[in-house]
Amino acid sequence: MPSVTKSRSSKSPVKASLKSSKLKKVGKAAAGKNGHNGHGNGVRLGAKTVVKGAAAKQAAAKTTKAGKRVYFFGGGKAEGNKEMKNLLGGKGANLAEMANIGLPVPPGFTITTDVCTEFYANGKKLPKQLDADVRAMVARMEKLVGAKFGDPSNPLLVSVRSGARASMPGMMDTILNLGLNDKTAAGLAAKSGNERFAYDSYRRFIAMYGDVVLGLKPERKEDHDPFDEILAHKKKARGVKLDSDLPADALKELVAEFKAEIKNRLGINFPEDPYAQLEGAIKAVFQSWRNDRADLYRRLNNIPVEWGTAVNVQAMVFGNKGSDSATGVCFTRDPASGENMFYGEFLVNAQGEDVVAGIRTPEKIEALGKVLPEAYKQLLDIRKKLEKHYKDMQDIEFTIENKKLYMLQCRSGKRTGFAGVRIAVEMVDEKLIPKEEALRRVEPEALNQLLRPVFLPSAKKAAIGEGRLLAKGLPAGPGAATGKVVFFADEAEALAAKGETNLILCRHETSPEDIRGMNASLGFMTAFGGMTSHAALVARQMGKVCIVGCDALSFDYHARTMKVETAKGEVVVKEGDWISIDGFAGEVIQGRVDTTPSEVIRVLIEKNLDAKEAPIYQTYAKLMSWADSARKLKVRANADQPDQAEASVAFGAEGIGLCRTEHMFFGEGKIGPMREMIVAENEADRRKALDKLLPLQREDFYGLFKAMKGRPVTIRTLDPPLHEFLPHDEAGVRDLAQATGKTVEEIHTRIEELKESNPMLGHRGCRLGITYPEITEMQARAVFEAASDIAAEGEDIFPEIMIPLVGTKKELDLQAEVVRKAADAVFAERGKKLGYSIGTMIEVPRAALTAGDIADTAEFFSFGTNDLTQTTFGLSRDDVPRVLAAYVSHDIYKVDPFVSVDRSGVGALMKLAVASGRAKKPKLKIGICGEHGGDPSSVEFCHQIGLDYVSCSPYRLPIARLAAAQAALKTS
Ligand code: PEP
Ligand code: MG
Repeated sequence: MPSVTKSRSSKSPVKASLKSSKLKKVGKAAAGKNGHNGHGNGVRLGAKTVVKGAAAKQAAAKTTKAGKRVYFFGGGKAEGNKEMKNLLGGKGANLAEMANIGLPVPPGFTITTDVCTEFYANGKKLPKQLDADVRAMVARMEKLVGAKFGDPSNPLLVSVRSGARASMPGMMDTILNLGLNDKTAAGLAAKSGNERFAYDSYRRFIAMYGDVVLGLKPERKEDHDPFDEILAHKKKARGVKLDSDLPADALKELVAEFKAEIKNRLGINFPEDPYAQLEGAIKAVFQSWRNDRADLYRRLNNIPVEWGTAVNVQAMVFGNKGSDSATGVCFTRDPASGENMFYGEFLVNAQGEDVVAGIRTPEKIEALGKVLPEAYKQLLDIRKKLEKHYKDMQDIEFTIENKKLYMLQCRSGKRTGFAGVRIAVEMVDEKLIPKEEALRRVEPEALNQLLRPVFLPSAKKAAIGEGRLLAKGLPAGPGAATGKVVFFADEAEALAAKGETNLILCRHETSPEDIRGMNASLGFMTAFGGMTSHAALVARQMGKVCIVGCDALSFDYHARTMKVETAKGEVVVKEGDWISIDGFAGEVIQGRVDTTPSEVIRVLIEKNLDAKEAPIYQTYAKLMSWADSARKLKVRANADQPDQAEASVAFGAEGIGLCRTEHMFFGEGKIGPMREMIVAENEADRRKALDKLLPLQREDFYGLFKAMKGRPVTIRTLDPPLHEFLPHDEAGVRDLAQATGKTVEEIHTRIEELKESNPMLGHRGCRLGITYPEITEMQARAVFEAASDIAAEGEDIFPEIMIPLVGTKKELDLQAEVVRKAADAVFAERGKKLGYSIGTMIEVPRAALTAGDIADTAEFFSFGTNDLTQTTFGLSRDDVPRVLAAYVSHDIYKVDPFVSVDRSGVGALMKLAVASGRAKKPKLKIGICGEHGGDPSSVEFCHQIGLDYVSCSPYRLPIARLAAAQAALKTS
C-alpha cells in the first residue's frame, strides 16, 4: 500500500516477508476441542446393517457400478499402488506399494477417499453396500492371518487409521486393537499365554475408542484426559511408576473402570460387537476429516476439503507383547538437518501411538541394534531399499512382534527447510534424482528458514556463563527464538491476535488441538516426547523453533508455572517470563538472548563469513543456481534504499521493480521540506520546498543506481495521500509552524483541509502529480540528474519511471509529458541524452480494462496487485484481517487474496491487460510489484500469463527464484 505511516513495504524486508505468511495464519475462530462425532453415532446401527447371502451379492454388484470402494493389500501383493494416492490416501497407497515390493506388511484394506465424499454427501451415513465389502475384505485378512474377527478362541484384531492424499500428521483419528471385547480379550490372553498383554491391549482400545468414537474428552483445558486420570490413580494405588509395571489384574480392573466411566458419563454401554465397533471406528475416522483441527490444518496447508480421507483397516501386530517386541518411527535421513544418517526412535514393549504421542521418551534407533539385532539389520536394509525405490527421504513406522519386523507405514518424510535443501541437493550429488527433481522438491517457503536468525554466539556464551542454561532437550526445529512463556495454546493464539509476537509455548506435550497456539508462537518446547512426537512434526512443518523431550521440566498448569531441575537446584519459570530456546542445540536458556543472522545472511549480506566455511550456504547457493538456469521469469526487488538494493542483488535480484519514493522522504532532513511542500498554499511556495528536496532526492537515486550497478531500476512517482506525511503530534505541528512562518492554528486548519473520507480512493497516485505537476517534475529531474551523474562516471544506467494509480490513458499522457520535459531539460543542461522509459502501474480495474489504450503511451506495465486486489474486491487492504477469518472459514476465500493472486477475478484482469497491452505493443515489458510477487502460487500464475518479471521484497527473492523455476518446470 502506499501508506507511509503503516508501511508494508520493503523498508523492513523481514517484516514484509513475515507479513504475508502471518496473513496466511488467520484461521477459523476458536472452536471446541471435541472436533469429532460426539456420542457413539452408528454403533448400534452397525449390527443392523449386516448384509448376507443374496443381499450381499446385490450390494457387491452396486459397488461395482459405483466404483470399487475397498482395496486389499497383503500376502506379498496389493490391489493398489503408490500412484493411487488420490483414491487410497498416502498411507493406503504406500501400504499397497510396500506390499508389492515384498516388504513385510500386515494384511488389510483401504476404504477409498470417494467413500468419504459419499459419506458427507449422504448426511454422514456410510454407503449401504460398504458393510458387505468390509466383511469380504475381513474374510481375506482372516485367511492370511489365520485368525477370525470376533472369534473368542483366536481373535483377529485390527487397526483403523485415517490417511488423506496429503499427510496431515496427528490431525485425524486412529483406533488400535479393535475387535476386543470381554470374550475375545480372554481368548487373546489364553492364546498368547500372556494375560498382561491381552488386557493392556484391551484397556488401550477402550480408552481410544472412548475418546475417538464416543467423544469422551477432558471437560476443561486444565483437566487431564479422563482415562489417563483413572490410569494415574491405578498406578498410584499399585505403587508403580510406569504403565508397563501394572500387572494383569490391575489392567483388568482398568478395563472395568474405563467401561464404567463411559457408562457414567455418556449413559451408553461400550459396544461389544466387533462389526459394530468397526463401523463406529470407520465413521469416526471419516468424521475426523472435518474436525476443527483438521479443518485448520487444511486451511494452513491449502488442502481442499473435497479430497476426503481414506480409511485403512489392517491386521494388528503387537509391539507390546514383551521385551522381544517393540515399535518405532524412523527417517531414512535426519529430518532436522538433512544429514544422510538413519534417524529414528523406538520403544520396547509399546504400541505405535506411544512413540508418536510422546507418552514415553523413546530410545535412539541405533540402540535397537543391541536389543533386537536381527530386526535392526532388516530395518537397515529396508531403509536402503525404500530410498532407492522412492528416491526420497522416507518416514517409516514399524513394529516388531516377538522379534519379527513389520512395516506399518512409509511416506515422504516431513523435513525442515534446512533438511529439504540439503537432501534435495545431496540426492542430486548421489545421482538418485536429477536437478529438476531437486528443484521441484523444495518448498519455496522453506527457504525462509535458511535466512532465520540464530543466537549471537557471544550473547549465548554470556548467558551460559551467568548460569542461565536451564535444560537440554532434543533439537527438533532449528533456529533461535526468544520470547515470553505461555502454557496454553489458546492463550498463545489470543495473545498473538493482540499483537504479541514473541511467545514460546511450553507444554508437557502437545497434541493436535494445540496447532493454532503453536502457529501463533515463535517456538515451542515440551518435556516429553522425541523427535517424532507431535511437537517435533509440527515444528518441522511450520518451520518453528522447537525443543522436545526436555525432561528436566515439570508443569503445574493450575499455578501457571514450570519447574526446571538444574544442577544448581530448582528454578521456577512463570507465565510471561522470558525464555530462549536454541533449536539447533536443544538448549533452553532463562531470559532473553540476542540473536544474530543466519549463515546465508552472514555470507551474502553481512559478508563476515567465508562461503567455504558455510555448508548450509553452499547447498543453498547450489540450489539457487539450478533454479536460475531453469526459470524464465526474471526477478526484481521492491527496494528504495541503497542497503536494500545491495541485499537484493545478493539475493539474486536482476533489477529493482519498485522504488517507492515516498519512503525516501522520511530520511534525514527530508520530512521537514516535504511537510513544507504539503502545507504550501500556492505553487510558488510549493516549488520553494521542492527545491530543497531536489538535491536530497537526487542523492537518494544516485545511491540506488550505484548499488544496482547498471541493472534496471523502476522508480515510482509519489503515491500516498499527502496527509500521511503530516505530523501527528503537537510538537510536530509546532515545528512545522515555525519552519513555514505560519501559526499553529493555520497548520491545524491545513491538516483538516487535507483529511479525506477515504484516502485510499482519494487524492493519491497520479492524481497528486496531475494536480501538482511540480512534484512529478522535481522527482523526474532528480532521477535524470542522478542518472547523468552515474553516466558521467562511465557506468550503465537505464531509469524507468513509473506512474501509479493510472486509470485512463490521459492521466498517463499528462504525467509522461512532465517527465519528458524534465528529461529534456536535464539532458540539455548536461549535454548528454540518456535512454529511459516511462510506464505505468496497472492497479485499478479500469487500467486493466483499457490496457490497450494505455499501452499507446506506456512503455511498460507493472501490476500493482495490492491495489488491484483492493479495488477489484472493493475490500480495503487495511481492513481485510477483520473480514478474512470469517471469509476463509465460510470457504468464500480459499486463501487471503492479498497473499495469493485471486486467479479468477484479479487474475482475469491481469490476463486481459497482458493480452490487450501486447496486442498494441508485442514486446511490451510487463511485471508485477505487489506483495504477490513473492508468493509462490502467484509467481506461478505470473509465469503462466507470460509476465517478464516478478518483483518482491528482498528477503523473498530466493522464494521467488525457486517458485519461478518450479513454474517453468511445470510447463516445460
Ligand atoms: C500495489 O498496489 O500493488 C503496489 C505495489 O503499490 P503500493 O503497495 O505501494 O500501493
Ligand atoms: Mg499501489
